[in-house]
Amino acid sequence: MEKTKSIYVKEKKSKIHGTGIYATRDIPKNTYVLEYVGEKVTKKQSDQIAQDLLDKYEKNKKKYAGVFLFTLNSRFDINGNVKWNTARFINHSCDPNSEAVIDKGHIWIETIKNVKKGDEITYNYGYDVENYEDHPCWCGTKKCVSYIVAEKQWTKLKKLLKKKLSK
Ligand SMILES: [Zn+2]
Repeated sequence: MEKTKSIYVKEKKSKIHGTGIYATRDIPKNTYVLEYVGEKVTKKQSDQIAQDLLDKYEKNKKKYAGVFLFTLNSRFDINGNVKWNTARFINHSCDPNSEAVIDKGHIWIETIKNVKKGDEITYNYGYDVENYEDHPCWCGTKKCVSYIVAEKQWTKLKKLLKKKLSK
């Protein structure tokens, strides 16, 4: 399989983490910049992949558990942890310029702001608050909540963090 390419972006060493994806030109808001591709897996397979990653993470205590599973629909997920998926390099940010959208059975990374040439492309990974401690965030934006968590669960996260501090 050939690596996915886009006229809008390229891989580059990231200031946030590892390799990132950067705009090669000015990109208007609401542009599909890159498709998030991978292997279509059933929910059962998906759970197994997530469990294996978690076990590996527990063993090695690596910085990132590296979850690349995407909900496609009620039956299938996309496992984006494949070499040809360039979009797997896109970093999370608490103040992102893009988001992942599902359109006719495909996952696209779409800009939600006007993006300047040279900007890093980011989206919110939307992880559940439940295991927030496994996913620290280094996005460095003013809005950063220190963990990779879906924005709609930030209130819950802030409550949990407060509780932890008061202990
Ligand atoms: Zn952050």
